[in-house]
Parts: sequence; structure tokens; C-alpha cells
Amino acid sequence: MRALQLVEDRRLEQVDIAPPSPPGLGEVTLRIKAVALNHIDVWGWRGMAFAKRKMPLVIGAEASGEIDEVGPGVTGLTPGQLVSIYGARTCGLCRPCREGRDNLCEHVSGVHGFHLDGFAQEKINLPARLLVPAPPGVDAVGAAVAPVTFGTVEHMLFDNARLEPGETILVHAGGSGIGSAAIQLAKKMGCTVITTVGSNDKIEKAKALGADHVINYREDRFEGVVRKLTKKKGVDVVFEHVGKDTWAGSMFSLKRGGRLVTCGSTSGVSTEINLMMLFQQQLKLLGSFGCRMENMANAMQKMAAGLVKPIIDTEVDFASIDTALKRMEGRDVFGKIILRID
Ligand SMILES: [Zn+2]
Repeated sequence: MRALQLVEDRRLEQVDIAPPSPPGLGEVTLRIKAVALNHIDVWGWRGMAFAKRKMPLVIGAEASGEIDEVGPGVTGLTPGQLVSIYGARTCGLCRPCREGRDNLCEHVSGVHGFHLDGFAQEKINLPARLLVPAPPGVDAVGAAVAPVTFGTVEHMLFDNARLEPGETILVHAGGSGIGSAAIQLAKKMGCTVITTVGSNDKIEKAKALGADHVINYREDRFEGVVRKLTKKKGVDVVFEHVGKDTWAGSMFSLKRGGRLVTCGSTSGVSTEINLMMLFQQQLKLLGSFGCRMENMANAMQKMAAGLVKPIIDTEVDFASIDTALKRMEGRDVFGKIILRID
């Protein structure tokens, strides 16, 4: 069967590998349908000085699949069913796992597509407990963006930042996969949404998703515009994932007692923090990574109800994956890039 392997930094190869053996106890064999690309794939592909990883490695951290075969002891899943796949291999035994908070697993073996083989392959065996069935009305693409894109954003906004209706939120990079999800989720609950984009052609697209104000960060200093829009008060919540380039401005954009929630650092992992601003303004800095199983189910319920939809930039096949990753690296995308396996 076909798989897409990273063999060295910036070198991907389509390879033939042996299909999985029949599913073991508590496992299912999945036929992968769609893989959604994320910045973690870009980090992995371009290589990172601070993380040595095993190669070759099958890429793909976020995907949907169809149940092909059910192993012994598995209940509630049947062949042909569409499921969304949790992105990390958690233990299932520790207290956080038993409570469905797998992103706090105490014995996690790694993230698929990064530490462990990922989902860019035709079939894979996985523990049934890491699969969330897609409700009617959600297709393979919707189920593919539930774990890392929508699940992460649900966890950031509702579990961590505890966003409330009527609040104002600044969403960085509204054209990114998680940015486009955050705009929709925040707007649908009745928040005022300010977002940033890197080019003027993305302004109308961001407004169409529900953004009330769109700032081109290459033309204006976003923190200045945010202060002006909020009459110098600042926003209740900043949705961060850019890191180094935006961190100081993000803190400056918050109102007293405001919350900054972050799940990434696409522009660099280190930055300085103005501690006086942190304590005097009583800011709350919240780190977020991955999601709870329930976040995936909630995201797909909202898709099924028509409240939110996955924003798809392009669908690609194995042959165009390099171009896709380069476009993501250059931030030349609006929404998600989907790799079709089926
Ligand atoms: Zn665990």
C-alpha cells in the first residue's frame, strides 16, 4: 500500500509498505480518507534544531478514516463508519486519559506524523478508543479537521480561555486553518471578532467568516488598531499561535485581566515578556495543546448543525505535497490544505 514518508529534512517520498496485520484486541483497521496539513507538518518537514526524530517517518497528524475491520473487544464501531482520529497515541489508563483529557496523558508515546508514523498511508491499525464517530452531515474532510484544527480551537476558546458571549477577541492569522476556525466559533457564540491577515485579498474572506474588523498586519501595527477599535480598553481574549513576532503586541492588546491563550509559535519559540505588564494588568497567559476527546465530538456536532464549516484552501494528492508545504511555510494559504488518500 502507498505511504508518504519523510526521509530527510525537506525530502518526502512516496513508498510502498506492507499493509497492517489484522486488528488486535481493542483495535480497528482504518482506511484513511483525508489528511489535513498543519504547521506541525511544516516544522517536521523543514527540520528542527531542537528535536531529533526518527526517520523515515510517515507524515500526517490529523485525519479521518473509514472503519475497515474491527478487532476483538471493540464495541460501537462498524465497518464502513466514518471516524475522526485523535492525533496522539495516549495510554488510555492514566487518570487524564480515563477522564477523556488525553492531551494531559502521563504516558503519551507521541504525536502521529511527528514522533510516530502518521496518517498519510492507505491503512493503519489504531486503538478504537482514539476514534470519534462522525455524525450524519459531516464528510471525510470535516472529520479530518476535527482533531487538530477545530478540536484545538474548541479547547483553547472554551476550556482554557473560557470565552463568553459578548466578549471581544483578537484572532491572529485569520487565514490559517485554526484562525479560520476560531473566527467562526467565536462569532457564532456572539463575540466581537478582530482578526489579522497578511494580504489585502484575505480581508474579504475573513469578513465572510464573521470577522467584524480585519487588520492587514503588514500595513498596520495590529496592537495600535486594536487599542483604537476598543477605545483604548483592549480585548478580553487574544488567540495566539504566531509567537515571537506578535507576542509583545498581543499582550499590549489585552484589557486589564484579559486572557491570552496560545497553541503555537510559527514565527519562533522564544520571546521576551514584560513582567510589569503581566502583573499590573493582571493578565492570564494560557498554554494549550491538542484537545479533549469531547472537543472533537463538539466540533463535529457544530459542523453537522451548519454553525461552522471547514475552510478548505486546496485538496492535493501525494505528488503535490511539497508545493503544499512550501505554500504553508510562506503563509500563502487561506484555510486548510487537504491531502486525499482515498
Ligand atoms: Zn494516559
